[in-house]
Amino acid sequence: MAGVAFIGAGSNIDPLENLLSGLKRIIENERAALVALSSFYRTSPVSDVAQDDYLNCALKIAWRGTPRELLTFLQALEAAHGRTRTVKLGPRTLDLDILLFGDTVMDEPDLIIPHPGLHERRFAIVPCLEMEQGLIHPRLGRPLSEFLDRIGPEQKIELFRRVSPGEIASFQDKKREKQ
Ligand code: AMP
Repeated sequence: MAGVAFIGAGSNIDPLENLLSGLKRIIENERAALVALSSFYRTSPVSDVAQDDYLNCALKIAWRGTPRELLTFLQALEAAHGRTRTVKLGPRTLDLDILLFGDTVMDEPDLIIPHPGLHERRFAIVPCLEMEQGLIHPRLGRPLSEFLDRIGPEQKIELFRRVSPGEIASFQDKKREKQ
């Protein structure tokens, strides 16, 4: 099985470094071919836990494998970046979510596609629409853009900056190269 996946990435601990490092590992993977990359956005945490703002982005890849194989790969990357799940919705070094996988709709206990938070999170929708304006939510059958109007003003998002695939490819991951 193969498909085009939209992956959401976020971090609020050394966020630029962790995002660049995580994205580099994704685009270097032999099963992943980068199709598009969104800008990086600074966003407010969607959580009651006091914590720093996030950097978020999304990428679109052609993935040679199943959604589950992609989840396993992304979870290994999260772990390699020191992600621990001590505080739910707490600060994180690297959060990687499968937002969409083509038109796939699936409900397994540990893998729900589209990601259940996609239509409720500005930080997930905005980067996806930057890459593909006309996206339709495969489960809800509505344009993803419609859901933005239903999200409250407490979810703040602003452009941080554009990042080119070349910048990611040339990122030197000093922390993990030493390991
Ligand atoms: P989080 O702490 O928000 O990264 O959530 C991680 C949990 O969400 C993991 O246990 C995953 O198995 C589960 N999960 C369910 N659906 C997805 C998805 N589409 N992408 C990533 N994780 C998912």
